[in-house]
Amino acid sequence: MSNSKRLERERNTLITMIGMYCKGNHHGEKLCPECAELQEYALKRLENCPFAEGKTTCAKCPVHCYKPQMRERIRKVMRYAGPRMIYTHPIQAIYHILDGRRKAPLKRQQDSRNT
Ligand code: SF4
Ligand SMILES: [Zn+2]
Repeated sequence: MSNSKRLERERNTLITMIGMYCKGNHHGEKLCPECAELQEYALKRLENCPFAEGKTTCAKCPVHCYKPQMRERIRKVMRYAGPRMIYTHPIQAIYHILDGRRKAPLKRQQDSRNT
């Protein structure tokens, strides 16, 4: 799986999960401002992710580049949307589970520190 596909998948999963959470909890036709803010933030983090290829999911990341308040919010979203996604988006859900099982490639971070 190429790097860009991996990130593309993660981007789509984030969008799916935040959308489900907002619909289920904030009941709007489209993303509410609060969830839109979270989505924008999460996608930006992903773009600048130091792990990129082979990364685990953000929820399991040992670094977690989110600021604490945003981290709490994305956790809530994942707790809500994770189990529900198995029914609505089974393929995405399976990838999400598999990606979450990977260990974050910390080695790469150490390598870059040495250069
Ligand atoms: S939380 Fe971890 S995996 Fe997610 S974007 Fe930040 S550094 Fe990358
Ligand atoms: Zn919302």
